[in-house]
This record gives sequence, C-alpha cells and structure tokens, in this order.
Amino acid sequence: MSKQDSNKTQNNPQIYQTMDSTKCSKLADSNPKINLITIAENATEIFYRLRWGSQIYCPKCGSIHIYKPEAGKLHICADCDNRFSDTSGTAFHSTKLSLAKWLMAIYIFLTQSKGVSSCNLSRLIGVSQPTAWNMLMIIRTCLKIDLNLTDVGIIDEVYLGADWGKKPSKEKYKKLPPKPDNVDDSTEQIWIKHQFYRLASEDKIPILGISDYNSRSIMLEGFPSTFTRNAVRSHINANYECVEEWVTDQSNLYKWITGDGYMHHVCDHSKGIYRSDEGYSSNRIEGAFSHLKRVWKGVYHRFSKEYAQLYLNEFCYRWNGFEDDIYKRLKGLFELMCWR
Ligand SMILES: [Zn+2]
Repeated sequence: MSKQDSNKTQNNPQIYQTMDSTKCSKLADSNPKINLITIAENATEIFYRLRWGSQIYCPKCGSIHIYKPEAGKLHICADCDNRFSDTSGTAFHSTKLSLAKWLMAIYIFLTQSKGVSSCNLSRLIGVSQPTAWNMLMIIRTCLKIDLNLTDVGIIDEVYLGADWGKKPSKEKYKKLPPKPDNVDDSTEQIWIKHQFYRLASEDKIPILGISDYNSRSIMLEGFPSTFTRNAVRSHINANYECVEEWVTDQSNLYKWITGDGYMHHVCDHSKGIYRSDEGYSSNRIEGAFSHLKRVWKGVYHRFSKEYAQLYLNEFCYRWNGFEDDIYKRLKGLFELMCWR
C-alpha cells in the first residue's frame, strides 16, 4: 500500500470495502437458485453478485483498492482516482428502469424457449410496450454468438416470410404492378399468381444456417440483399476455414464445395435421401429451422429485414446455451451487457 493510500485509509473508515458481508450475504451459495420471485425480492444482491462477484474492483485499472466517501455516492479507486457507480460501463447505466425490471427481463428473455414479444414482456414486468421493445433490443445488440466448429460442419438455407399465394388480402392486391396489355381475362389469374410469387420471394429473408456436426451449436446469418452461390461461397471461405468437411443438401448454392478443397457430403432431399453415402445427415440444422419458423410465426409474427440479424442472434444464443443452468446463462448474458 502506498503512502497516499494509507492516508486515505486513515481519513475514511469505509475505505477498501469488500462486497462479502454487505451485499452478497443472501446469496452465499456459489450457484444460487434463481427464479422470478428470487429476482424480484433480491434484485440488488443478484445484481451485485453478477456485477462484482465477491470483490468490488475498478473497471478502469482492475484495482481492488476502492473506497466510498458516503453511502449513495460514487465508488472511488484509490489507485487511479476513477469514479464509478455500480452500473457504470454497463447497458443498465443511465436508464430509469429498476435493476429488478432489468433482471426480470433478462431472465424471461433467457428462459422462454421461443423468446418473448415486447407486448408480452411489458405485461409480465409492468412497463410500457415501447420500453419493453427497447429493453429487448438493448439485450439483442449485446449478444455475441460463439460457434465452435470442429472439422465437420453442416450448411443449409431457409427463407422466412409469408406465402402470399394462399390467402391474398386486399392489401396484397394493392401491391400488384399495373396489368400489362397482353394479359386478358383468361390469363389474369395466372399472371396474378405469378406476381404474388415474385413479390413474396422478394419479401422473404434468406437465411444461411451453419452448424457443427458434433454439437448443438448453430449460427444463422441473414442475407437481406444478395443470396447467391458466390455470396455463400465467399462467406464460408472467409469465416469457416477450420472446417474440412461440409454436409449439405442437393441445392445449387453448394456446388462449389468440392472444387474449393472441402470434402462434400450430400443428402439429396429431392430424392428422399436424408443420409449421405458416408452416413452423414443434416437433420440437426433442420430441427433448428423448424423451431425458428415456429418462433417467427408464433411469437414475433414478422421482423423487418433491417433487424433480422438481431433476432437471428437471439435465436442462436438461446438455442446454443439452452442446456446450461439458468444462473450460468444469466451470468453469461450479464457479462456481455457489461462493456468494461
Ligand atoms: Zn482504478
């Protein structure tokens, strides 16, 4: 301890506070059982535990020599004089919402297998719908997906969006282009069907799914502008070089794989073949896609192309970590929401 530090110690009885006895006593267990009731009752304790662990430290220099002149004031680092609050450098800083509401939102976000809509979250935690939407978007922007690929990976694609042909509404008819002269009464229905098909495919969001063959982890990438063979090829070559073998379906999007030096296992779904000659199947990612379609239809109804990647990240984050216990997931997400 430097001379300057010891002066501060003598002047202030609260110097070098530790968190153990004051804030974390109710959570003595290293892996506490967490549910909505414990969060509502012990939000401050849980927040302190997640933020600081057992020892408060300076977020700037990492020093544990921290003092606080008075209760309710900022913490001060004795080494670098940094002044900070418990929420400094986190996504919760400068919001008017209570920590309990934030923690409840995170808990609900993590535990609902299909996610939660802003309308539903607003009812559950008692905030307005725009506030709930903002909270969910803040959580989504903090997410980071780690895809740990081994040497075998699966690629597949899916398109999210409504099928316009089934029950065209009046609104959809308004989007039709002017009818060309060569379309008469007898060919009008065929022309309309074709236009709906074209508009629907423009409206759909193409998504590329990458999965590890040996684990649950997946990554979904939205391609809002160009979804072509070359786009897929450069994306895979740039981001997933560690993989040596790819399992795909028969789509033309993957015809380049063997030529680029990878081993290619094809499951030709068009011929009813779901296992390649070498015994590989792409069922794992098909399962994730079918869950994603239910999330799209059942919870969000739709999301715009602009925000698609945030929603896809949310889906992957939940899918990849679903087998971990809730405290571990809460801690993992909380750490992503603390920026330093
Ligand atoms: Zn410091």
